[in-house]
Amino acid sequence: MAEQKLPKLTTRVRFPSPAPLPSGAAHCIDVIDPATQAVIDTFFEDDVAAVDRAVRRGRAAFDDGPWPRISVAERQCVLRRIADLINEHAEALVALEVRHTGLPIAFVRAMHVPRAAQNFRFFADYIGQRADRMYTQEAGYRTYVTREPVGVAALIAPWNVPLGLGLMKTAAAIAFGNACVVKPSEATPLSFPAVMPLFAEAGVPDGVVNLVNGRGHVTGAALVAHPGIDAISFTGGTETGRVIGMEAARRIRPVTMELGGKSANIICDDADLDAAVAGSIVAAFANNGQQCLAGSRLLVQRGIADAFIDRFVAATKALRIGAPTDPATQLGPLISAAQRDRVLHYAALAVGEGATLLSGGRVPPGLERGYYVEPTIVEVTDSRATVAQDEVFGPLVSVQRFDTVDDAIALANDSDFGLVGYAWTASIARAQAIVDGVRTGVMWVNTPMMRDLRAPFGGWRDSGLGAEGGDACAALYTREKTAIWKV
Ligand code: NDP
Repeated sequence: MAEQKLPKLTTRVRFPSPAPLPSGAAHCIDVIDPATQAVIDTFFEDDVAAVDRAVRRGRAAFDDGPWPRISVAERQCVLRRIADLINEHAEALVALEVRHTGLPIAFVRAMHVPRAAQNFRFFADYIGQRADRMYTQEAGYRTYVTREPVGVAALIAPWNVPLGLGLMKTAAAIAFGNACVVKPSEATPLSFPAVMPLFAEAGVPDGVVNLVNGRGHVTGAALVAHPGIDAISFTGGTETGRVIGMEAARRIRPVTMELGGKSANIICDDADLDAAVAGSIVAAFANNGQQCLAGSRLLVQRGIADAFIDRFVAATKALRIGAPTDPATQLGPLISAAQRDRVLHYAALAVGEGATLLSGGRVPPGLERGYYVEPTIVEVTDSRATVAQDEVFGPLVSVQRFDTVDDAIALANDSDFGLVGYAWTASIARAQAIVDGVRTGVMWVNTPMMRDLRAPFGGWRDSGLGAEGGDACAALYTREKTAIWKV
């Protein structure tokens, strides 16, 4: 297979070379509206010194401040107040989130911002239910195990769900009594600063939540390398995850990594086709297709393949593409020109490798301004095709036919990733065989994307290390301490 030069997955807005800045001044970053390509804001990058100041503020709040020391009940009140304040300011946050991500407003309003608030409510409930352990096997001794906050956490978030994912990390970190330093993506820096005053208003002490903004290889790298950081939670691309994982290993700090995916969506011949088509549209194209958990590899059983594919293609073509601010829009622009070009590139590459283009693969006519691309479907006959192996991170789905459930499981596992998977079938036995057989952190059966935040969400192999969720977050954001008493 000829080696192709691909645009980097982690596509950024294009920054002008630093315009003449006074000596010592920070690098200046433009924020681009993906729907119009207009510069909508500009900010100065936080450099090593600014990161150092943020970590020191976190350290002071953790080492000497009240937050790790107050009662769980007090912390619960503050967390619930944050949730209330996010809901009160939801429309302003929705507007900002739509502006820098290009995500459809209906989706952000229904999913992202409510989820951001729910994160705080969930962890408030969780810490109120958590119990420590006691062992009594040795006569005359009591051994008990408690969990203490880990310290100052570095929280690094991607651009595809800036508030929902960034605030999941923040809620978890501070719920357990930690301080944190958050670094959103440089492409989506607008919404987090709007949340910062809400923490203060809810009663979070100064220095517990700190924010830094800037490029990953500058601001992010300075943050994960800082000696004042005790734990790292990262969500982003697999290659960045390797770099951060190496830094965590060098400093022997705990780290969780939520990375990329190339998840199989298996449609069996006994599936409810209406539900499977509707669910597959969500799995493939929600969040403009820019989602780690995308069901971007459709596997369809041969007997129903023609019927399913016809309906899936028709439903894809019916998606309303347009301005993200229009409540009717279902698919907005991608985050950047490079991300749009990446999708177009993979569509062309797939066809070059012998795939059949069933839909899309081009910029929608009339939407040349803004980073729009039509939702794209290609049919492949080989699971080793590049388009069936690489994470595209955009509205592009490959479809492949299979004969037996065992074949589907083998195809699903023919991937370096292992984040999630989907199965559509009326048979409990088939569903269980697929759940048991597919090597991923999460499997959905006859539904797309439902989450119970108590359950771990995390990928296997190249999709990550550790997980997010109730117990999973406790594992990262706390350390166990064993105390043995003679009684
Ligand atoms: P990146 O890996 O490029 O970036 C993620 C974050 O890491 C950004 O804030 C980025 O900053 C920062 N970063 C980049 N380089 C470094 C570094 N050397 N040190 C510290 N921080 C760094 O991913 P994307 O933002 O492009 O996000 C898309 C990826 O995220 C996809 O692969 C997707 O699958 C994955 N993802 C995984 C999820 C999961 O739960 N498993 C959920 C959502 C996304 P900056 O952007 O400013 O450069």
